[in-house]
Amino acid sequence: MENKKEMRNWLDDFGLDHPLVIAGPCSAETEEQVLKIAHELKDTDVSVYRAGIWKPRTRPGMFEGVGAIGLDWLKKVKAETGLLTSTEVANKDHVKLALEADIDILWIGARSTVSPFIVQEIADALSGTDKIVLVKNPVNPDLALWMGGLERLYTADIKKLGAIHRGFSTYDKSKYRNNPEWQIAVEFQNKFPDIPMICDPSHIAGRRDLIFDLSQRALDLNFDGLMIESHWDPDNAWSDAKQQVTPTRLVEIMKELTIRKKTTNEEGYRTELETLREQIDVIDQAILDALGKRMKVAASIGQLKKDNNVAVLQNRRWNEILESMQQEGSQRGLSEDFISRIFKAIHQESINHQEKVING
Ligand code: PEP
Ligand code: MN
Repeated sequence: MENKKEMRNWLDDFGLDHPLVIAGPCSAETEEQVLKIAHELKDTDVSVYRAGIWKPRTRPGMFEGVGAIGLDWLKKVKAETGLLTSTEVANKDHVKLALEADIDILWIGARSTVSPFIVQEIADALSGTDKIVLVKNPVNPDLALWMGGLERLYTADIKKLGAIHRGFSTYDKSKYRNNPEWQIAVEFQNKFPDIPMICDPSHIAGRRDLIFDLSQRALDLNFDGLMIESHWDPDNAWSDAKQQVTPTRLVEIMKELTIRKKTTNEEGYRTELETLREQIDVIDQAILDALGKRMKVAASIGQLKKDNNVAVLQNRRWNEILESMQQEGSQRGLSEDFISRIFKAIHQESINHQEKVING
């Protein structure tokens, strides 16, 4: 997919001097709830109202959305507040109904982006419309799958595109519901610099107290917008109760966020530097995580060696690792000397971890 400035035009058309904010409840629950929240969000920095009408749920038996009737409520939102409207579509029937209801922005959810069949079905059903379509990252950390989703839409002649970063599910427990893995979003931006990137801190966090920090980080990484779940009574929301914030809190968050503007050249430089440094921080974090994981595996090998009474140092294996890393390193422009020094240090640390297991 070539990069074309025209892909950003839809965002420029908003004429905002701040990032785009999409907000509204996880799910449309009742007409009253949908309208009440929308009225609280109008006349704020929010430009687009969100509400899930069809909800993809991990386990059956949870609230699966009100269905098509909710589209009428969104129409009322637009008529009464002037906010644009958006909802998730997950198959061609959803697309047909959402287009009939003149919903302005459609998004493809994380559980749909994983399926090329579903994305293609949605792309075919949307072909020829000029709606804005946003693609959430797939639930698994797979950049190609995310890019592929956007490419399928682009090929179906849908040109008003955007990406939503909502984090990635992992088996390991962390403080996040979905690990941000910022480096994947950063890499996406590098590959497709003209596709607006929106952060969904609500689904990354899974809890409302993390939303501010995640939003600030996204802005520091030059994201173009935020999608934040907002409910007038979060604790009693029918889905994602823990992560929603009240409209009042959302307005506070928007006020407190620092937006780095690119006006003067000097400021442009500082913004760019800030962005690059944020990228470095993200990558360093990923390096640390990887090293930590490597040492855990090394310790498990230590246990295995102990159980089988085998020596810690296996020279042949180590020489193979070093040689293949030097080869792969040179393909990435890294010198042999650097690779040798860094892997010797890593190897030594692994041996220390193994010896602790064996002697400890
Ligand atoms: C949602 O936006 O409410 C949703 C279901 O998100 P995701 O597809 O990111 O899980
Ligand atoms: Mn949700």
